[in-house]
Amino acid sequence: MATILPSPPKVGMVSLGCPKNLVDSERILTKLRADGYAMSADYAGADVVLVNTCGFLDSAKEESLEAIGEAIAENGRVIVTGCMGKEAEVIRTRFPGVLAVTGAHQYEEVVGAVHEAAPMPPSAFLDLVPATELKLTPRHYSYLKISEGCNHRCSFCIIPALRGDLVSRRPDAILREAEKLVAAGTRELLVISQDTSAYGLDLRHASYPLKGGGEVRAHMTDLSRELGKLGAWVRLHYVYPYPHVDHVIPLMAEGLVLPYLDIPFQHAAPAVLKRMKRPANDAKVLERLRNWRSIAPDITIRSTFVVGFPGETEADFQYLLDWLDEAQLDRVGAFRFEPVEGAAANDLDGAVSEEVKEERYARIMEKTAAISAAKLEAKIGRVLDVIIDEADEDGGATGRSKADAPEIDGQVFLRDAPGLKPGDFVRVEIEDADEHDLYGVPVA
Ligand code: SF4
Repeated sequence: MATILPSPPKVGMVSLGCPKNLVDSERILTKLRADGYAMSADYAGADVVLVNTCGFLDSAKEESLEAIGEAIAENGRVIVTGCMGKEAEVIRTRFPGVLAVTGAHQYEEVVGAVHEAAPMPPSAFLDLVPATELKLTPRHYSYLKISEGCNHRCSFCIIPALRGDLVSRRPDAILREAEKLVAAGTRELLVISQDTSAYGLDLRHASYPLKGGGEVRAHMTDLSRELGKLGAWVRLHYVYPYPHVDHVIPLMAEGLVLPYLDIPFQHAAPAVLKRMKRPANDAKVLERLRNWRSIAPDITIRSTFVVGFPGETEADFQYLLDWLDEAQLDRVGAFRFEPVEGAAANDLDGAVSEEVKEERYARIMEKTAAISAAKLEAKIGRVLDVIIDEADEDGGATGRSKADAPEIDGQVFLRDAPGLKPGDFVRVEIEDADEHDLYGVPVA
């Protein structure tokens, strides 16, 4: 006689904010799947909806509140988690019907709230644990969170207040997770944290035993080397230019780690960096960049900058533009300064008017787009390794080179590329370029 299993409750998820939040969402969903829950792709089919919020900027908070409002209107049974969990009162006042509010990384609490809101029917046959964490990113790339929190206190940032000081994961646990991801089809590992270069500081860079023998130190260089041996692309995000980062560059030259560093410089003018209280605020950064390029000539440096920070003078801003001329960064994102509730920078004098912020934003974008266009034009005629993200039925495909992280950098658009699928690696001859993207054709 067939055993009919009771159908499990369905959980919907809205994940907002940065890749770090996405990793948290994946963890929560993995645990819920392991507990037997099913997932719902829409509000209508969900027994309960989780909204994983971002509270980094006021605009992100507003977006989070809008998402909660939409989930309440569409479904009505809503649990809120993530960075805005710190502001439970605000959420409860605006949405009294919310079932529960939990904070960032309170995995047990949020899973417990789901169990309470949509209890599992009892069953002796539940063995639904997936081989790897349920992923919200496409199967061929995965974010790998190596630590949580931050020991710095940048004056514009409330992340340490939201997420606490640095807590690193054990390197052997990270490697186990990475191995499972690669075995399940991941071709690119995106290493994330608040400060990747600080990894292992809280563990005093201790060594941990590896499964197959030997050991690995809780240190960015050692972890990167071990990750590089797994055979997937390894891309490092949120790296600060501390001197020890120099030791990672040879790993790029050896092909173990992608020649790519995401370094959020935020500014270049010493006076502004000081007011921002930025880590690794080193006057010799330009020299270090030159050195890195001499070791790994193809290295791509991506960064973000804030314009209109309190006290930023026209001379400071011009310093930044001149610095960018010298630094020749490959990929740059810029933001107009926005005061975040609770950030120390809000008490600084010298507020920059919205008009001036707008004007500086336009100037930095123009400058960095020109640098990017020239750098991409120099790639025309070269053959590059590309990972495929999407393939269409007409023989076209879209991918990324080693210089492009998903979501934030450019893409490579392919013609005459039939038979490809996401996660394939192809060699591509670059035929054309614009400010952000490349165009090419696969070569044998
Ligand atoms: S390094 Fe600064 S900006 Fe980054 S998370 Fe830490 S405090 Fe925030």
